[in-house]
Amino acid sequence: MQVYKFGGTSVGSPERMRHVAQIVAGSSEQKIVVLSALAGTTNQLVSISESFSSGNQDEARNQCNDIKATYFEFVGELFSTEVGKKKGIDIVEKFFGQIEKLIGQPYYEKASKLILAQGEIISTNLFQLFLEESGQSSVLINALDFMYLDENQEPNLPLIGRKLKPILSNIKDIPIIVTQGYICRTHSGGIDNLQRGGSDYTATLIGAAVNANEVQIWTDIDGVHNNDPRIVENTMPIAELSFEEAGELAYFGAKILHPSCILPAQQQNVPVRIKNTLRPEAKGTLITSNKNPEKIKAIAVKDGITAIKIKSTRMVNAYGFLRKIFEVFEKYKTSIDMVTTSEIAVSLSIDDSTFLQNIIDELKPFGIIEVDKDQSIICIVGDFVAERKGVGKDIFASLEAIPIRMISYGGSKNNISVLIDTRYKKDSLQALNKGLFNL
Ligand code: ASP
Ligand code: MG
Repeated sequence: MQVYKFGGTSVGSPERMRHVAQIVAGSSEQKIVVLSALAGTTNQLVSISESFSSGNQDEARNQCNDIKATYFEFVGELFSTEVGKKKGIDIVEKFFGQIEKLIGQPYYEKASKLILAQGEIISTNLFQLFLEESGQSSVLINALDFMYLDENQEPNLPLIGRKLKPILSNIKDIPIIVTQGYICRTHSGGIDNLQRGGSDYTATLIGAAVNANEVQIWTDIDGVHNNDPRIVENTMPIAELSFEEAGELAYFGAKILHPSCILPAQQQNVPVRIKNTLRPEAKGTLITSNKNPEKIKAIAVKDGITAIKIKSTRMVNAYGFLRKIFEVFEKYKTSIDMVTTSEIAVSLSIDDSTFLQNIIDELKPFGIIEVDKDQSIICIVGDFVAERKGVGKDIFASLEAIPIRMISYGGSKNNISVLIDTRYKKDSLQALNKGLFNL
């Protein structure tokens, strides 16, 4: 069994959806095909639900009509037979009808999740109908029948396996099984989702639940690049990454993967391959448990970071000081990315500044607080075994002209992070590209 996941841009036009159908027909092994909503749809559904929740039902209805019109066009182009077109229109009517019904009622919180879920439901229904029209044997299974969260809103992998296996055992002879990414149920059965970009997570959760031979994430780039291609000139795809390296990259801003999606694959040791829909012949990036020590693999960057420094002479030789500081962050459910300490000060970085003022107020009794906003974490990922010499030198020589706010080295052997002001981001990434990769 293989799991293939296609993102929104890969199914974003009728032409591209047809191309996806060709890709999934390419090998005979049974596969589960996980689809995102068509590109842009989830954003549009978010704005419908925002209009709706702020009491602007007319606006929500207009937005809904606008998208519906684009879907009618999509259907008209995707299907070639009259029967296909008619069934496609029925799908659009049915699921947009559900949105219209929801926004015709008074707002209630769960309605938003229901509205958001329709994007993936529509894309998978249209795609499976297209496979049917083109004579490809396939079946649609509903992610809401097996994709469950636990009490802590985390995916419940054992339960997902228990729900999914009997469904699959009834369709053993069907080569292509289509299902929705992103959407799921809460532990009590309500509709929820795996957060934005969550279809990758669906794919690796399914891969782990069924112990797939491989999960392929199909996107629009030739794999994970060594540096951010949106910012830096001359980047290149990386042939192989370890789960640890990919996890660090996904978390630290490499937008190509959902930050949590590596974990289930790693737990069950299921290889993950990143492929390019536009260039299926390109090798892409293969993520496995194989390690390739002593090599710098990639650089990722995460913006919107706030650095907080707490300076206090009371820290000298004191114990329990860090615990008290961390408790403040815990109280406001704010996770800390980087930490550095000296005898008289500790610096921390956070990426969610929702409760920044509360946190600052509660930290004041501990010492003098300094805050720097608009910072970026540059994360250099590779396998840096402890004895590796010269990694630090190469990095800091490259960043010679950049003021560095924090450095974190030794936390894990896969990551060296430096914190800089975001205005130096481009220069830093370009300098590291030259200094570390000679690109
Ligand atoms: N459609 C969802 C989103 O746009 C999930 C995904 O594409 O992975 O965030
Ligand atoms: Mg994505």
